[in-house]
Amino acid sequence: PYTHTTPATAPAPDDSQQRIQQLVRRQRAFFATGKTLDTGFRISQLRALQQAIRRHEQALFDAMYADFRKPAFESFSTEIGFVELELKLTLKKLQDWVKPRKVKETIINFPARSRIHASPYGIAMIIGPWNYPFNLLMAPLIGAMAAGNCVLLKPSEIAPHTSAAIAKLISETFDEDYIAVAEGGVDVTRQLLAQRYDYIFFTGSTRVGQIVMKAAAEHLTPVTLELGGKSPAIVAEDADLALAARRIVWGKFMNAGQTCVAPDYILVQEQVKEELVQQMAKCIRQFYGDAPQESPDYARIINDGHFDRLSAYLQHGTIRTGGQTDSASRYIAPTLLDQVNWEHPVMQEEIFGPILPILPITTLQEAIGVVNAHEKPLALYFFSSSHEKQEAVLRSTQFGGGCINDTISHLANPNLPFGGVGASGMGSYHGKSSFDLFSHQKSILQRGTWLDLPLRYPPYRNRLQML
Ligand code: NAD
Repeated sequence: PYTHTTPATAPAPDDSQQRIQQLVRRQRAFFATGKTLDTGFRISQLRALQQAIRRHEQALFDAMYADFRKPAFESFSTEIGFVELELKLTLKKLQDWVKPRKVKETIINFPARSRIHASPYGIAMIIGPWNYPFNLLMAPLIGAMAAGNCVLLKPSEIAPHTSAAIAKLISETFDEDYIAVAEGGVDVTRQLLAQRYDYIFFTGSTRVGQIVMKAAAEHLTPVTLELGGKSPAIVAEDADLALAARRIVWGKFMNAGQTCVAPDYILVQEQVKEELVQQMAKCIRQFYGDAPQESPDYARIINDGHFDRLSAYLQHGTIRTGGQTDSASRYIAPTLLDQVNWEHPVMQEEIFGPILPILPITTLQEAIGVVNAHEKPLALYFFSSSHEKQEAVLRSTQFGGGCINDTISHLANPNLPFGGVGASGMGSYHGKSSFDLFSHQKSILQRGTWLDLPLRYPPYRNRLQML
Protein backbone atom coordinates (compact mmCIF):
# COMPACT_ATOMS: atom_id res chain seq x y z
CA PRO A 1 0.00 0.00 0.00
CA TYR A 2 1.03 3.54 -0.74
CA THR A 3 2.50 5.66 2.07
CA HIS A 4 3.59 9.28 1.93
CA THR A 5 7.14 10.36 2.51
CA THR A 6 8.17 13.97 2.21
CA PRO A 7 10.36 14.43 -0.86
CA ALA A 8 13.82 15.75 -0.11
CA THR A 9 14.03 17.57 -3.42
CA ALA A 10 13.93 21.34 -3.22
CA PRO A 11 12.55 23.46 -6.07
CA ALA A 12 15.16 23.75 -8.81
CA PRO A 13 16.67 27.12 -9.69
CA ASP A 14 15.42 28.94 -12.78
CA ASP A 15 16.93 27.86 -16.04
CA SER A 16 19.05 30.53 -17.68
CA GLN A 17 18.51 32.06 -21.07
CA GLN A 18 21.87 30.76 -22.21
CA ARG A 19 20.98 27.20 -21.35
CA ILE A 20 17.63 27.49 -23.13
CA GLN A 21 19.26 28.81 -26.31
CA GLN A 22 21.80 26.04 -26.17
CA LEU A 23 19.12 23.37 -25.66
CA VAL A 24 17.15 24.56 -28.68
CA ARG A 25 20.32 24.58 -30.82
CA ARG A 26 21.28 21.09 -29.70
CA GLN A 27 17.79 19.71 -30.27
CA ARG A 28 17.74 21.22 -33.74
CA ALA A 29 21.03 19.50 -34.54
CA PHE A 30 19.76 16.21 -33.17
CA PHE A 31 16.52 16.40 -35.13
CA ALA A 32 18.55 17.04 -38.27
CA THR A 33 20.34 13.70 -37.83
CA GLY A 34 17.04 12.01 -38.73
CA LYS A 35 17.19 9.58 -35.79
CA THR A 36 13.66 10.40 -34.66
CA LEU A 37 12.30 9.46 -38.10
CA ASP A 38 12.94 5.82 -37.28
CA THR A 39 9.85 4.17 -35.75
CA GLY A 40 12.09 1.71 -33.89
CA PHE A 41 13.86 4.61 -32.19
CA ARG A 42 10.54 6.16 -31.16
CA ILE A 43 9.29 2.87 -29.73
CA SER A 44 12.47 2.24 -27.75
CA GLN A 45 12.32 5.77 -26.30
CA LEU A 46 8.63 5.45 -25.38
CA ARG A 47 9.50 2.16 -23.65
CA ALA A 48 12.27 3.92 -21.77
CA LEU A 49 9.72 6.51 -20.64
CA GLN A 50 7.35 3.75 -19.55
CA GLN A 51 10.05 2.09 -17.44
CA ALA A 52 11.20 5.39 -15.98
CA ILE A 53 7.67 6.23 -14.85
CA ARG A 54 7.47 2.88 -13.09
CA ARG A 55 10.82 3.50 -11.39
CA HIS A 56 9.84 7.02 -10.32
CA GLU A 57 6.24 6.25 -9.35
CA GLN A 58 6.73 6.67 -5.60
CA ALA A 59 8.66 9.93 -6.07
CA LEU A 60 5.84 11.26 -8.27
CA PHE A 61 3.16 10.33 -5.71
CA ASP A 62 5.20 12.04 -2.99
CA ALA A 63 5.78 15.15 -5.08
CA MET A 64 2.09 15.62 -5.90
CA TYR A 65 1.21 15.05 -2.25
CA ALA A 66 3.79 17.61 -1.17
CA ASP A 67 2.49 20.16 -3.66
CA PHE A 68 -1.17 20.06 -2.67
CA ARG A 69 -1.97 16.90 -0.78
CA LYS A 70 -3.33 15.31 -3.91
CA PRO A 71 -4.90 12.03 -2.74
CA ALA A 72 -2.86 9.01 -3.85
CA PHE A 73 -5.85 7.41 -5.59
CA GLU A 74 -6.40 10.57 -7.67
CA SER A 75 -2.65 10.83 -8.40
CA PHE A 76 -2.89 7.35 -9.82
CA SER A 77 -6.25 7.45 -11.62
CA THR A 78 -5.95 10.94 -13.12
CA GLU A 79 -2.18 11.26 -13.54
CA ILE A 80 0.18 8.26 -13.46
CA GLY A 81 -2.36 5.58 -14.45
CA PHE A 82 -3.78 7.81 -17.17
CA VAL A 83 -0.31 8.39 -18.65
CA GLU A 84 0.49 4.68 -18.47
CA LEU A 85 -2.65 3.89 -20.50
CA GLU A 86 -1.72 6.49 -23.14
CA LEU A 87 1.75 4.95 -23.37
CA LYS A 88 0.38 1.43 -23.67
CA LEU A 89 -2.01 2.41 -26.45
CA THR A 90 0.66 4.36 -28.33
CA LEU A 91 3.18 1.52 -28.13
CA LYS A 92 0.55 -0.92 -29.38
CA LYS A 93 -0.63 1.21 -32.31
CA LEU A 94 2.36 3.26 -33.41
CA GLN A 95 3.44 0.92 -36.22
CA ASP A 96 -0.03 1.41 -37.77
CA TRP A 97 -0.22 5.15 -37.17
CA VAL A 98 3.08 5.86 -38.94
CA LYS A 99 2.07 4.10 -42.16
CA PRO A 100 1.52 6.49 -45.08
CA ARG A 101 -2.22 6.74 -45.72
CA LYS A 102 -3.32 6.09 -49.31
CA VAL A 103 -6.07 8.34 -50.67
CA LYS A 104 -8.21 8.10 -53.81
CA GLU A 105 -6.67 9.39 -57.01
CA THR A 106 -8.33 11.68 -59.57
CA ILE A 107 -8.53 11.07 -63.30
CA ILE A 108 -6.87 14.44 -63.98
CA ASN A 109 -3.56 13.19 -62.59
CA PHE A 110 -3.60 9.82 -64.34
CA PRO A 111 -1.30 7.94 -63.97
CA ALA A 112 -0.56 8.65 -60.30
CA ARG A 113 -0.90 7.48 -56.71
CA SER A 114 -1.50 9.77 -53.74
CA ARG A 115 -0.74 9.31 -50.07
CA ILE A 116 -0.34 11.28 -46.85
CA HIS A 117 2.78 10.94 -44.75
CA ALA A 118 2.67 11.87 -41.06
CA SER A 119 5.94 13.70 -40.59
CA PRO A 120 7.30 15.28 -37.41
CA TYR A 121 7.41 19.05 -37.08
CA GLY A 122 10.86 19.19 -35.43
CA ILE A 123 11.11 20.67 -31.95
CA ALA A 124 7.96 20.80 -29.88
CA MET A 125 7.77 22.97 -26.77
CA ILE A 126 5.21 21.85 -24.20
CA ILE A 127 4.15 24.15 -21.35
CA GLY A 128 2.14 22.61 -18.51
CA PRO A 129 -0.10 23.91 -15.72
CA TRP A 130 0.07 22.93 -12.05
CA ASN A 131 -3.30 21.25 -11.48
CA TYR A 132 -2.55 17.90 -13.14
CA PRO A 133 1.16 18.61 -13.26
CA PHE A 134 2.28 15.17 -14.43
CA ASN A 135 -0.53 14.15 -16.79
CA LEU A 136 -0.73 17.46 -18.66
CA LEU A 137 2.97 17.43 -19.48
CA MET A 138 3.39 13.69 -20.13
CA ALA A 139 0.29 13.02 -22.25
CA PRO A 140 1.34 15.59 -24.90
CA LEU A 141 4.96 14.40 -24.58
CA ILE A 142 3.88 10.88 -25.59
CA GLY A 143 2.16 12.23 -28.71
CA ALA A 144 5.14 14.42 -29.60
CA MET A 145 7.60 11.53 -29.20
CA ALA A 146 5.38 9.11 -31.11
CA ALA A 147 5.26 11.56 -34.01
CA GLY A 148 9.08 11.84 -34.02
CA ASN A 149 9.70 15.28 -32.52
CA CYS A 150 12.36 16.50 -30.11
CA VAL A 151 10.72 18.01 -27.05
CA LEU A 152 11.38 20.81 -24.61
CA LEU A 153 9.17 20.53 -21.53
CA LYS A 154 8.24 23.37 -19.18
CA PRO A 155 6.51 22.13 -16.01
CA SER A 156 4.59 24.60 -13.86
CA GLU A 157 6.62 26.28 -11.15
CA ILE A 158 3.46 26.46 -9.04
CA ALA A 159 3.75 22.71 -8.34
CA PRO A 160 7.51 22.83 -7.58
CA HIS A 161 7.94 19.32 -6.16
CA THR A 162 6.31 17.72 -9.19
CA SER A 163 8.32 19.99 -11.48
CA ALA A 164 11.53 18.75 -9.82
CA ALA A 165 10.39 15.11 -9.93
CA ILE A 166 9.63 15.40 -13.66
CA ALA A 167 12.98 17.08 -14.34
CA LYS A 168 14.76 14.24 -12.55
CA LEU A 169 12.81 11.52 -14.36
CA ILE A 170 13.40 13.06 -17.78
CA SER A 171 17.08 13.93 -17.29
CA GLU A 172 17.83 10.42 -16.04
CA THR A 173 16.07 8.85 -19.01
CA PHE A 174 16.80 10.97 -22.08
CA ASP A 175 19.62 12.80 -23.68
CA GLU A 176 18.85 16.55 -23.52
CA ASP A 177 19.46 16.78 -27.25
CA TYR A 178 16.24 14.79 -27.63
CA ILE A 179 13.98 15.50 -24.61
CA ALA A 180 14.79 18.19 -22.05
CA VAL A 181 13.14 20.04 -19.19
CA ALA A 182 13.43 23.76 -18.48
CA GLU A 183 12.28 24.61 -14.96
CA GLY A 184 11.35 27.98 -13.53
CA GLY A 185 8.78 30.73 -13.32
CA VAL A 186 7.22 33.23 -15.68
CA ASP A 187 10.64 34.62 -16.63
CA VAL A 188 11.74 31.23 -17.88
CA THR A 189 8.52 30.79 -19.86
CA ARG A 190 9.13 34.21 -21.42
CA GLN A 191 12.69 33.21 -22.35
CA LEU A 192 11.43 29.95 -23.77
CA LEU A 193 8.81 31.75 -25.82
CA ALA A 194 11.46 34.03 -27.31
CA GLN A 195 12.99 31.03 -29.12
CA ARG A 196 11.83 29.51 -32.35
CA TYR A 197 10.09 26.08 -32.26
CA ASP A 198 8.21 24.02 -34.79
CA TYR A 199 5.23 23.43 -32.51
CA ILE A 200 4.01 24.87 -29.22
CA PHE A 201 1.56 22.97 -27.03
CA PHE A 202 0.26 25.02 -24.12
CA THR A 203 -2.07 24.05 -21.28
CA GLY A 204 -3.10 26.81 -18.90
CA SER A 205 -5.23 29.88 -18.57
CA THR A 206 -6.88 31.77 -21.41
CA ARG A 207 -4.89 34.89 -20.44
CA VAL A 208 -1.50 33.19 -20.77
CA GLY A 209 -2.78 31.34 -23.86
CA GLN A 210 -3.01 34.73 -25.56
CA ILE A 211 0.59 35.53 -24.58
CA VAL A 212 1.73 32.18 -25.99
CA MET A 213 -0.12 32.65 -29.26
CA LYS A 214 1.31 36.14 -29.74
CA ALA A 215 4.85 34.80 -29.19
CA ALA A 216 4.18 31.91 -31.60
CA ALA A 217 2.93 34.35 -34.26
CA GLU A 218 6.41 35.91 -34.36
CA HIS A 219 7.74 32.75 -36.01
CA LEU A 220 4.43 31.47 -37.43
CA THR A 221 4.74 28.50 -35.11
CA PRO A 222 1.60 26.36 -34.99
CA VAL A 223 0.02 26.12 -31.54
CA THR A 224 -2.35 23.99 -29.58
CA LEU A 225 -3.96 25.82 -26.70
CA GLU A 226 -5.64 23.79 -23.99
CA LEU A 227 -7.33 26.48 -21.93
CA GLY A 228 -10.10 26.77 -19.36
CA GLY A 229 -13.36 28.57 -18.78
CA LYS A 230 -16.61 28.17 -16.94
CA SER A 231 -17.97 24.71 -17.74
CA PRO A 232 -21.67 24.39 -16.88
CA ALA A 233 -23.59 21.36 -15.64
CA ILE A 234 -27.23 21.63 -16.69
CA VAL A 235 -29.75 19.56 -14.77
CA ALA A 236 -33.20 19.07 -16.29
CA GLU A 237 -36.25 18.33 -14.16
CA ASP A 238 -36.48 14.80 -15.61
CA ALA A 239 -32.90 13.85 -14.61
CA ASP A 240 -32.12 11.04 -12.17
CA LEU A 241 -31.30 13.51 -9.41
CA ALA A 242 -29.51 11.17 -7.01
CA LEU A 243 -27.23 9.99 -9.81
CA ALA A 244 -26.70 13.51 -11.17
CA ALA A 245 -25.79 14.74 -7.68
CA ARG A 246 -23.27 11.92 -7.19
CA ARG A 247 -21.59 12.44 -10.54
CA ILE A 248 -21.48 16.24 -10.26
CA VAL A 249 -20.06 16.12 -6.71
CA TRP A 250 -17.43 13.60 -7.85
CA GLY A 251 -16.37 15.72 -10.84
CA LYS A 252 -16.45 19.00 -8.94
CA PHE A 253 -14.58 18.13 -5.76
CA MET A 254 -11.96 15.81 -7.21
CA ASN A 255 -8.61 17.58 -6.81
CA ALA A 256 -10.57 20.13 -4.69
CA GLY A 257 -12.19 21.55 -7.81
CA GLN A 258 -8.84 22.40 -9.42
CA THR A 259 -9.71 20.64 -12.65
CA CYS A 260 -10.03 22.34 -16.03
CA VAL A 261 -13.12 20.29 -16.92
CA ALA A 262 -14.73 20.41 -13.46
CA PRO A 263 -18.35 21.55 -13.53
CA ASP A 264 -17.90 25.24 -12.71
CA TYR A 265 -21.54 26.00 -11.92
CA ILE A 266 -24.96 24.35 -12.10
CA LEU A 267 -28.00 25.48 -14.03
CA VAL A 268 -30.91 23.49 -12.64
CA GLN A 269 -34.62 23.64 -13.38
CA GLU A 270 -36.10 25.37 -10.38
CA GLN A 271 -38.70 22.72 -9.52
CA VAL A 272 -35.91 20.20 -8.73
CA LYS A 273 -33.31 22.60 -7.34
CA GLU A 274 -33.96 21.89 -3.64
CA GLU A 275 -33.91 18.17 -4.16
CA LEU A 276 -30.61 18.41 -6.10
CA VAL A 277 -29.02 20.57 -3.37
CA GLN A 278 -30.08 18.04 -0.70
CA GLN A 279 -28.76 15.13 -2.73
CA MET A 280 -25.43 16.87 -3.38
CA ALA A 281 -24.98 17.73 0.29
CA LYS A 282 -25.63 14.07 1.08
CA CYS A 283 -23.00 12.97 -1.46
CA ILE A 284 -20.40 15.37 -0.04
CA ARG A 285 -20.93 13.77 3.39
CA GLN A 286 -20.75 10.28 1.92
CA PHE A 287 -17.55 11.00 -0.01
CA TYR A 288 -15.62 13.11 2.50
CA GLY A 289 -17.35 12.53 5.86
CA ASP A 290 -18.67 15.14 8.27
CA ALA A 291 -15.19 16.70 8.51
CA PRO A 292 -13.72 16.80 4.97
CA GLN A 293 -10.63 18.48 6.44
CA GLU A 294 -9.72 15.11 7.93
CA SER A 295 -10.49 13.13 4.80
CA PRO A 296 -7.42 11.61 3.11
CA ASP A 297 -9.33 11.87 -0.16
CA TYR A 298 -9.62 15.64 -0.32
CA ALA A 299 -6.87 17.86 -1.78
CA ARG A 300 -5.73 21.32 -0.68
CA ILE A 301 -5.64 24.62 -2.59
CA ILE A 302 -2.35 24.97 -4.46
CA ASN A 303 -1.13 28.28 -2.95
CA ASP A 304 -2.06 31.29 -0.81
CA GLY A 305 -3.00 33.45 -3.79
CA HIS A 306 -5.61 30.98 -5.00
CA PHE A 307 -6.76 30.35 -1.41
CA ASP A 308 -7.44 34.08 -0.91
CA ARG A 309 -9.15 34.41 -4.29
CA LEU A 310 -11.45 31.46 -3.56
CA SER A 311 -12.18 32.49 0.04
CA ALA A 312 -13.35 35.90 -1.20
CA TYR A 313 -16.02 34.21 -3.37
CA LEU A 314 -17.72 33.04 -0.17
CA GLN A 315 -18.65 36.61 0.76
CA HIS A 316 -21.51 36.62 -1.77
CA GLY A 317 -24.49 34.29 -2.01
CA THR A 318 -25.78 31.81 0.55
CA ILE A 319 -23.68 28.88 1.68
CA ARG A 320 -25.83 25.73 1.72
CA THR A 321 -23.06 23.28 2.63
CA GLY A 322 -19.42 23.78 3.56
CA GLY A 323 -17.95 27.27 3.55
CA GLN A 324 -15.28 26.49 6.19
CA THR A 325 -11.72 27.55 5.41
CA ASP A 326 -8.32 27.17 7.05
CA SER A 327 -5.60 29.40 5.69
CA ALA A 328 -2.75 27.55 7.46
CA SER A 329 -3.44 24.33 5.55
CA ARG A 330 -5.09 26.08 2.56
CA TYR A 331 -8.25 24.08 3.14
CA ILE A 332 -11.59 25.09 1.68
CA ALA A 333 -14.51 22.79 2.41
CA PRO A 334 -16.59 21.38 -0.45
CA THR A 335 -19.09 24.21 -0.72
CA LEU A 336 -22.51 24.58 -2.34
CA LEU A 337 -23.39 28.21 -2.99
CA ASP A 338 -26.96 29.39 -3.52
CA GLN A 339 -28.51 32.81 -4.32
CA VAL A 340 -25.71 33.69 -6.69
CA ASN A 341 -25.94 36.02 -9.67
CA TRP A 342 -23.69 36.80 -12.64
CA GLU A 343 -22.50 40.05 -11.03
CA HIS A 344 -20.86 38.15 -8.17
CA PRO A 345 -17.08 37.58 -8.47
CA VAL A 346 -17.63 33.80 -8.37
CA MET A 347 -19.49 34.03 -11.69
CA GLN A 348 -17.06 36.45 -13.33
CA GLU A 349 -14.18 34.02 -13.86
CA GLU A 350 -13.35 30.33 -13.83
CA ILE A 351 -13.67 29.19 -10.20
CA PHE A 352 -10.99 26.47 -10.20
CA GLY A 353 -11.72 25.46 -6.62
CA PRO A 354 -14.24 23.58 -4.45
CA ILE A 355 -17.08 26.11 -4.63
CA LEU A 356 -20.15 25.19 -6.63
CA PRO A 357 -22.72 27.90 -7.41
CA ILE A 358 -26.24 26.68 -8.16
CA LEU A 359 -28.40 28.86 -10.40
CA PRO A 360 -32.07 28.14 -11.05
CA ILE A 361 -33.50 28.26 -14.56
CA THR A 362 -37.10 27.90 -15.65
CA THR A 363 -36.67 26.30 -19.07
CA LEU A 364 -33.89 24.48 -20.92
CA GLN A 365 -34.08 27.22 -23.52
CA GLU A 366 -33.04 29.64 -20.79
CA ALA A 367 -30.06 27.41 -19.91
CA ILE A 368 -29.01 27.31 -23.57
CA GLY A 369 -29.29 31.11 -23.68
CA VAL A 370 -27.08 31.47 -20.57
CA VAL A 371 -24.39 29.20 -22.04
CA ASN A 372 -24.42 30.97 -25.39
CA ALA A 373 -24.25 34.41 -23.79
CA HIS A 374 -20.79 33.55 -22.42
CA GLU A 375 -17.46 32.34 -23.82
CA LYS A 376 -17.51 28.83 -25.28
CA PRO A 377 -16.68 26.52 -22.36
CA LEU A 378 -14.18 23.67 -22.32
CA ALA A 379 -16.86 21.23 -21.18
CA LEU A 380 -20.60 21.00 -20.79
CA TYR A 381 -22.53 18.38 -18.85
CA PHE A 382 -26.21 17.72 -19.32
CA PHE A 383 -28.37 15.59 -17.06
CA SER A 384 -31.72 14.46 -18.44
CA SER A 385 -33.52 11.25 -19.26
CA SER A 386 -35.01 12.66 -22.46
CA HIS A 387 -33.28 11.89 -25.73
CA GLU A 388 -34.95 14.90 -27.41
CA LYS A 389 -33.72 17.27 -24.72
CA GLN A 390 -30.21 15.81 -24.92
CA GLU A 391 -30.18 16.36 -28.69
CA ALA A 392 -31.56 19.90 -28.33
CA VAL A 393 -28.88 20.96 -25.84
CA LEU A 394 -26.06 19.37 -27.88
CA ARG A 395 -27.29 21.01 -31.09
CA SER A 396 -27.69 24.49 -29.66
CA THR A 397 -24.52 24.96 -27.63
CA GLN A 398 -20.81 25.12 -28.46
CA PHE A 399 -18.20 23.71 -26.10
CA GLY A 400 -14.99 21.66 -26.25
CA GLY A 401 -16.46 18.30 -25.22
CA GLY A 402 -18.58 16.86 -22.48
CA CYS A 403 -20.90 14.18 -21.19
CA ILE A 404 -24.54 13.37 -21.05
CA ASN A 405 -25.49 12.17 -17.59
CA ASP A 406 -21.92 12.29 -16.31
CA THR A 407 -18.99 14.66 -15.71
CA ILE A 408 -15.30 14.51 -16.75
CA SER A 409 -15.41 10.89 -18.01
CA HIS A 410 -15.05 11.90 -21.67
CA LEU A 411 -11.35 12.34 -20.90
CA ALA A 412 -11.03 8.68 -20.08
CA ASN A 413 -11.73 7.55 -23.65
CA PRO A 414 -8.57 7.98 -25.78
CA ASN A 415 -10.72 7.65 -28.91
CA LEU A 416 -12.34 11.00 -28.08
CA PRO A 417 -10.12 13.95 -29.05
CA PHE A 418 -9.86 16.29 -26.06
CA GLY A 419 -9.66 20.05 -26.48
CA GLY A 420 -11.47 23.36 -26.32
CA VAL A 421 -13.09 25.76 -28.75
CA GLY A 422 -13.01 29.55 -28.85
CA ALA A 423 -11.80 30.95 -25.53
CA SER A 424 -11.35 27.41 -24.14
CA GLY A 425 -8.68 26.57 -26.69
CA MET A 426 -7.83 25.14 -30.08
CA GLY A 427 -6.57 21.74 -31.18
CA SER A 428 -7.20 18.42 -29.48
CA TYR A 429 -5.26 15.38 -28.33
CA HIS A 430 -5.31 11.99 -26.52
CA GLY A 431 -4.70 8.62 -28.15
CA LYS A 432 -4.22 8.79 -31.91
CA SER A 433 -5.29 12.46 -31.92
CA SER A 434 -2.04 13.24 -30.06
CA PHE A 435 -0.01 11.54 -32.76
CA ASP A 436 -1.96 13.40 -35.47
CA LEU A 437 -1.60 16.72 -33.66
CA PHE A 438 2.19 16.51 -33.48
CA SER A 439 2.50 15.33 -37.11
CA HIS A 440 2.46 17.48 -40.17
CA GLN A 441 0.27 15.82 -42.81
CA LYS A 442 2.58 15.80 -45.79
CA SER A 443 0.61 15.20 -49.01
CA ILE A 444 2.48 13.41 -51.78
CA LEU A 445 1.39 12.69 -55.34
CA GLN A 446 3.57 10.17 -57.10
CA ARG A 447 3.22 10.56 -60.84
CA GLY A 448 3.77 7.72 -63.29
CA THR A 449 6.54 8.32 -65.82
CA TRP A 450 5.31 6.03 -68.58
CA LEU A 451 2.69 8.49 -69.86
CA ASP A 452 2.78 12.28 -70.22
CA LEU A 453 -0.35 13.63 -71.88
CA PRO A 454 0.42 17.04 -73.44
CA LEU A 455 -3.02 18.53 -72.66
CA ARG A 456 -1.93 20.67 -69.71
CA TYR A 457 1.09 22.26 -71.38
CA PRO A 458 0.99 25.58 -73.28
CA PRO A 459 0.44 26.75 -75.90
CA TYR A 460 -3.26 26.18 -75.07
CA ARG A 461 -4.61 27.44 -78.46
CA ASN A 462 -8.34 26.67 -78.63
CA ARG A 463 -8.36 24.09 -75.78
CA LEU A 464 -10.76 26.17 -73.66
CA GLN A 465 -13.46 25.80 -76.31
CA MET A 466 -12.94 22.04 -76.30
CA LEU A 467 -13.86 21.71 -72.58
P1 NAD B 1 -1.31 29.59 -16.14
O1 NAD B 1 -1.78 30.05 -17.47
O2 NAD B 1 -1.20 30.59 -15.04
O3 NAD B 1 0.15 28.93 -16.24
C1 NAD B 1 0.48 27.93 -17.19
C2 NAD B 1 1.93 28.08 -17.56
O4 NAD B 1 2.17 29.36 -18.12
C3 NAD B 1 2.91 27.92 -16.40
O5 NAD B 1 3.95 27.02 -16.80
C4 NAD B 1 3.46 29.32 -16.18
O6 NAD B 1 4.84 29.31 -15.85
C5 NAD B 1 3.26 30.02 -17.49
N1 NAD B 1 2.97 31.44 -17.34
C6 NAD B 1 2.19 32.02 -16.38
N2 NAD B 1 2.13 33.36 -16.56
C7 NAD B 1 2.87 33.64 -17.66
C8 NAD B 1 3.19 34.84 -18.37
N3 NAD B 1 2.74 36.04 -17.98
N4 NAD B 1 3.99 34.75 -19.47
C9 NAD B 1 4.45 33.56 -19.89
N5 NAD B 1 4.18 32.39 -19.24
C10 NAD B 1 3.40 32.42 -18.16
O7 NAD B 1 -2.28 28.39 -15.76
P2 NAD B 1 -2.31 27.55 -14.42
O8 NAD B 1 -2.73 28.44 -13.29
O9 NAD B 1 -1.09 26.73 -14.26
O10 NAD B 1 -3.50 26.54 -14.75
C11 NAD B 1 -4.83 26.87 -14.57
C12 NAD B 1 -5.54 27.15 -15.86
O11 NAD B 1 -5.26 26.14 -16.81
C13 NAD B 1 -7.04 27.16 -15.74
O12 NAD B 1 -7.58 28.19 -16.51
C14 NAD B 1 -7.45 25.80 -16.29
O13 NAD B 1 -8.76 25.73 -16.77
C15 NAD B 1 -6.45 25.62 -17.36
N6 NAD B 1 -6.28 24.21 -17.67
C16 NAD B 1 -6.70 23.75 -18.88
C17 NAD B 1 -6.58 22.40 -19.15
C18 NAD B 1 -7.00 21.82 -20.47
O14 NAD B 1 -6.65 20.69 -20.72
N7 NAD B 1 -7.72 22.53 -21.31
C19 NAD B 1 -6.04 21.55 -18.20
C20 NAD B 1 -5.63 22.08 -16.99
C21 NAD B 1 -5.75 23.42 -16.73
